[in-house]
Amino acid sequence: MIEKKRDGGELSPEELRWLIQGYVAGEVPDYQMAAFLMAVYFQGMSQAETVTLTRVMAESGDRVDLSAVPGTKVDKHSTGGVGDTVTLVLVPLLGAAGLVCAKLSGRALGHTGGTIDKLEAIPGLRTELPLAQVIRQAQEIGVVIADHTGELAPADRLLYELRDVTATVPSLPLIVSSILSKKLVGGADAIVLDVKCGAGAFMPTLDAARELARTLVEVGNALGKKFSALITAMDQPLGNMVGNALEVKQAIAVLRGEGPADLREVTLALGAELLLLVGEEAEPGAARRRLEGLIEGGAAWKKFRQLVEAQGGDVRAIEDPQLLPRAGAVEEVLAPASGYVVGVDARRIGMAAGLLGAGREVKGQPIDPAAGVELLAKVGGEAEAGAPLARLHLGANANLPAAKNLVEEAFRIAPQPPPPSPLVLDRIPPP
Ligand code: URA
Repeated sequence: MIEKKRDGGELSPEELRWLIQGYVAGEVPDYQMAAFLMAVYFQGMSQAETVTLTRVMAESGDRVDLSAVPGTKVDKHSTGGVGDTVTLVLVPLLGAAGLVCAKLSGRALGHTGGTIDKLEAIPGLRTELPLAQVIRQAQEIGVVIADHTGELAPADRLLYELRDVTATVPSLPLIVSSILSKKLVGGADAIVLDVKCGAGAFMPTLDAARELARTLVEVGNALGKKFSALITAMDQPLGNMVGNALEVKQAIAVLRGEGPADLREVTLALGAELLLLVGEEAEPGAARRRLEGLIEGGAAWKKFRQLVEAQGGDVRAIEDPQLLPRAGAVEEVLAPASGYVVGVDARRIGMAAGLLGAGREVKGQPIDPAAGVELLAKVGGEAEAGAPLARLHLGANANLPAAKNLVEEAFRIAPQPPPPSPLVLDRIPPP
């Protein structure tokens, strides 16, 4: 099989099944799987192979069975970004719209943040929920955000760990099967994908993001669920906060009808796409107005409060975000010149937040929920020499010099304002 893939051949469904099942069972050794993954990296996979690989990976473990929960079950997935707090706003918003959303999320990966780390910044909040509780909570309040347990799609966890250390992460069929296998076992009928594009994303160019989005939507629909995708900009971070408690604070602001316009915009766009996908609304403008009404009327905020309470979180800390973890020290980064901000490199800001304590360098390392970067200027804004561009919230073991350096490098200032650029770059509807 390694030889066949190396030479550009196509594996049969039986061969792929044997390979993945054998690997999960410990019968196929890491060195052979690593060689196979590298062959896939160079040769790619046909759509039929990608469909089979995804199916076999999904079938490698348990599924969240939401069949006993009444209502339309939906989900969203982001390919990963910086300041991407959309899930914390969108899940309660969808719940307020009467949809059921049992979302399984992950922790920070590389320079990108993870929803589970963010939620855990709320004192007491539990994310490691047994599947039975996920189902019960979905039944009771319609919304859950839980950690992806090892019982679901274990083949992905094993393959991902191997890809991470063999330079085989950025392979289209491997990314597609990894993302979709997890979505297939999540119990939703319709899923909207937020494919991030730009310096802070896995897909830096629009062409690459489009190819990923199209393949995700085609393979996802071929496997029997409704998928659609939006490609959204990730050149600069979304919103103004990067870091766990900081992002929770910002999500709360958006849920209360305030907060940064870009985070609100991406959330509304993805939510409206889902309402169209499940047939709850027939027209994008109406879908959007309905969601805006649920924010303005307080229903989305109420649903978030219910979610926090159901998972054991301290509701006082979300009602008064001053009670969320706060850094002991804050350091400013000053503008070196006057002009317009023409770039805020999301990857560098994400890495800086990690160095301040918001991310991990090795698996399992504790993070500091208070650490992160607060952006005081974004693309299109004005900068004044000597005025602050960002505040660095220092975690317990922050590497301040390196983080500061990265944030300084991230900002680009020019005499002329940049041309306006859209947030939603493309839409890939279901076939
Ligand atoms: N996210 C995933 O879940 N898997 C990948 O392979 C890449 C991004």
